[in-house]
Amino acid sequence: MQEHLKHPIFKIVSEVADAENISAFVIGGFVRDIFLKRTSKDIDIVVLGNGIEIAKKVSKLIKRSKVSVYKNFGTAQLKLDDIEIEFVGARKESYRLNSRKPIVENGTLDDDLQRRDFTINALGISLNSKTYGQLIDQFKGIEDIDDRIIRTPLEPDQTFSDDPLRMIRAIRFAAQLNFNIEQKTFASIYKNRKRIDIVSKERIIEEVNKIILSERPSTGFLLLDQTGLLELIIPDLFKMKGAETKNGLSHKDNFLHTLQVLDNVARKTDNLWLLWAALLHDIAKPATKRFFPKQGWTFHGHEFLGAKMIPEIFKDLKLPLNEKMKYVQKLVQLHLRPIILSQEVVTDSAVRRLLFEAGDDIDDLMMLCEADITSKNDSTVRKHLANFKIVRQKLIEIEEKDAVRNFQPPISGELIMETFGIKPCKEIGIIKVTIKDAILDGVIHNNFDEAYQLMIDKGKELKLIPKN
Ligand code: ATP
Ligand code: MG
Repeated sequence: MQEHLKHPIFKIVSEVADAENISAFVIGGFVRDIFLKRTSKDIDIVVLGNGIEIAKKVSKLIKRSKVSVYKNFGTAQLKLDDIEIEFVGARKESYRLNSRKPIVENGTLDDDLQRRDFTINALGISLNSKTYGQLIDQFKGIEDIDDRIIRTPLEPDQTFSDDPLRMIRAIRFAAQLNFNIEQKTFASIYKNRKRIDIVSKERIIEEVNKIILSERPSTGFLLLDQTGLLELIIPDLFKMKGAETKNGLSHKDNFLHTLQVLDNVARKTDNLWLLWAALLHDIAKPATKRFFPKQGWTFHGHEFLGAKMIPEIFKDLKLPLNEKMKYVQKLVQLHLRPIILSQEVVTDSAVRRLLFEAGDDIDDLMMLCEADITSKNDSTVRKHLANFKIVRQKLIEIEEKDAVRNFQPPISGELIMETFGIKPCKEIGIIKVTIKDAILDGVIHNNFDEAYQLMIDKGKELKLIPKN
C-alpha cells in the first residue's frame, strides 16, 4: 500500500500525527481510486482528534500551502498546487427522523466509516509510522470493488434515510465507474425515493452533472428512471418516456432517443453545457405532439417551445441563469437547422443564415445535430451523415468567402440617424434588417459601400431624405 502514498503530504501528516500522538488516516475516494487505478485529485484525511489543528501544523511544514478553515464544519482545507487536502476529525452522526441536520459528535474511526455512503468509499489507510500503509476495510469494500458493486455499509434504509442524496450518488458512482447497484441497495432507493425532496437542488444537480459527464451517461439516466427518482428530480425528462401508436403509426420513444443522442455527444466532448443541450434538445416534444391521420405523429415547433422552456427548467434545477443557459437555449432552438439543410439543395443563403445565427457555436451545433441522427436503419443514418458532410463543406466555403460567422452590420443605427437627420424611430430598425437580410441572402456583399447605397435606397422608399 505504501507505494501508493507517494505524495509528500502523507509523510508530513504522518510526522505531525506521531508528534501529536494522534491517529491519522487517508480515507474515502482517494483510497478507492488506488484500487480502481484511477488518479484522484482530492485527498481526505481523518484524524482521531482536532482536524483543524493538525491541518495548521501540517501547513506550517509546507511552504507553498494555504489553509482555509471551515469552523462550522470542523474541517480545514489545504491547497497544494492543484491538489486539495481536507482534514477533519473522525465523527459520529446521528439523525432524527424529523430533522435533516444530524447531531455531530466526535467519534471513533468505526463511527466515521459507517456514516459513509458506500462500502467502496468506506476504506482507510493508516498514516502513523507504526502502522503506515495499513488498510482498514471494515465493510468489505475491496471485495465490492473487485465485484464492481455499489453497496451501503449499514442497512441501506438507514444510510439513505440519513442523507437521501446518497441515492443519487449511488447512481452517479454506478454510471461513472460502470458498477452495479447491489439488489438490496437498489430496492431501498426505490423505497426511499420520495425522501429526495428534502435534499437541496444544488446538491442534486452536482451529482447529476457528474452523471452527465460520465462515459456513458445513459446508464445513469436509466437508473434514475428505474429507481423512480427521475420523475421527482427532472419531471420534464420523465414526460418524454414512452411511444404511442395510432392507426398503426408509432413515434419513437423520445426519452430513449434523447439518451442515445446524449451518449453520442458524450463520446465526442466533455463540454457540460453541450451535453445539457443534448439532454434537453427534444424537451418540448411531449407538449407539441399531434396526430394527423395522413401524416402520423408531428412535433411541430418543438425546437422553439423547447428553447422557451429552458429558463424555467434551469431555474427549477438551480442551474446558472447566465450565458450558459443562453447557449443551451440557442442550441435547442437551432438543433433542426443543419439537418433540414442536409435534406434540401443547400443554398448559400441558407448556409449564411445558419452561420449568422449560430455564430461561434456553429461547431457545437453541428456536433449536436450529427449526434441527433439516430435510426434503427443503418442505411438511413449513413445517407444523412453523407449529406451532413456536404453541409459541413459548404459551411467552410461560405465562411471563407463571406465571413458571416461573427457578422457585424457595416451600417450602424447612428449613421442612419445622421444620414437622414432623424431621431430614434422604427425606420432605423427596418433599414438595418433590410441590410442584414440583403447580405445574408447574397443580394449585396458584406461591405460598407454596397450597404451604404442600400441604406440610401431603402430610406427613400420610406420617404426619408438624405441631409446632403
Ligand atoms: P469524487 O471522485 O467525485 O470526488 P469522492 O468519492 O471523492 O468522489 P466526494 O464527494 O469527494 O466523493 O466525497 C469524499 C468522500 O466523502 C467519499 O468517498 C465518501 O466516503 C464521503 N462522502 C461524501 N459525500 C457523502 C455523503 N453524502 N454521505 C456519506 N459519505 C459521503
Ligand atoms: Mg472527492
